[in-house]
Amino acid sequence: MLPFNTTGEAATFLGRNLTAAETFWFNYSARKSDYYLYCHNILFLFIIFTFVPLPFVFVEMMRSLGFGKYKIQPKVTTSLSEMFRCYKDVMRMFVLLVGPLQLASYPSIKMVGIRTGLPLPSKWEILAQLTVYFMVEDYTNYWIHRFLHGKWGYDKIHRVHNEYSAPIGFAAPYAHWLEVLILGIPTFLGPAIVPGHMITFWLWIALRQIEAIETHSGIVNLRAFKLITLVLEAFWPRFVNFLRVSDGVIVLECKCFPMHKPQFIVSVLKCRYDFPWTPTKYIPFYGGADYHDYHHYVGQQSQSNFASVFTYCDYIYGTDKGYRYHKKVLRKLKEESRIDGASNGGSYYAPTQDLKSE
Ligand SMILES: [Zn+2]
Ligand SMILES: [Zn+2]
Repeated sequence: MLPFNTTGEAATFLGRNLTAAETFWFNYSARKSDYYLYCHNILFLFIIFTFVPLPFVFVEMMRSLGFGKYKIQPKVTTSLSEMFRCYKDVMRMFVLLVGPLQLASYPSIKMVGIRTGLPLPSKWEILAQLTVYFMVEDYTNYWIHRFLHGKWGYDKIHRVHNEYSAPIGFAAPYAHWLEVLILGIPTFLGPAIVPGHMITFWLWIALRQIEAIETHSGIVNLRAFKLITLVLEAFWPRFVNFLRVSDGVIVLECKCFPMHKPQFIVSVLKCRYDFPWTPTKYIPFYGGADYHDYHHYVGQQSQSNFASVFTYCDYIYGTDKGYRYHKKVLRKLKEESRIDGASNGGSYYAPTQDLKSE
């Protein structure tokens, strides 16, 4: 709740006019309690857990239309009912643990000093704080995750999360209740060290979960352009001839109308060809789906790829050796036998030697 009755009072306090964003924030939050604002996270998490995995479900369902080649483990199929079961389990955990935890953890947010007032943080402040949050979470998560791969930790707790040896988007938050609880610590640690505005905190919680879902999607960097092409080709094979790139702009050409006349451009979609399905692949040291998929693939014995977001911890502590060896073997095999799959980043099912961690 803001200590001002009008935007004029807020402007006097700030010594300047409110920006458009600040006026919007004032109108939205002035009469809402900080507790109520904090609890928005429950709604955001519900929306993210429910809707963000859906494009990946679509790709899984469209395997018969050629989408299977974008799977990291193309031979592993997950049925719709299996995905729904996973979602139901996640929702049960959400209702019984994640939601109540949000409701109860408000005092800690107050204690560390997450603010809701004016002025709003600048975009650079938000960016800098989010970077710190990701770095702190990544480092702490690495060691907790590594601990969970000990015999006791794995058998009692972490086994649940690794049930999906070929993960799907819905499986990102799928874990033992104790793991959900423990991994809340790295998530909270960054904001506790560098407390920011509630908006930054919302963004952090949302981005971290979206990142986790993308990492567990089981799908390689499928470009938005390619996805549009595949959908159009799948449903309008007679209409759409192809999408092509002209000077960085996607040009949709249709089959001639009337038939047998030269093709003509019916639409120009101002999308860059380079617009990636996963913008995260441009982030330095970002692990991504292929990186974490390997961790699930190897399973219990995995002493490789513990990091949740970046790859540097695994590199520094030598726990990416198995993965790097595996990629080296795949590259060699591709060179030697020109096995199919160069476009999908490599399947774990190539006729390889032992792929387990060193
Ligand atoms: Zn693990
Ligand atoms: Zn995982």
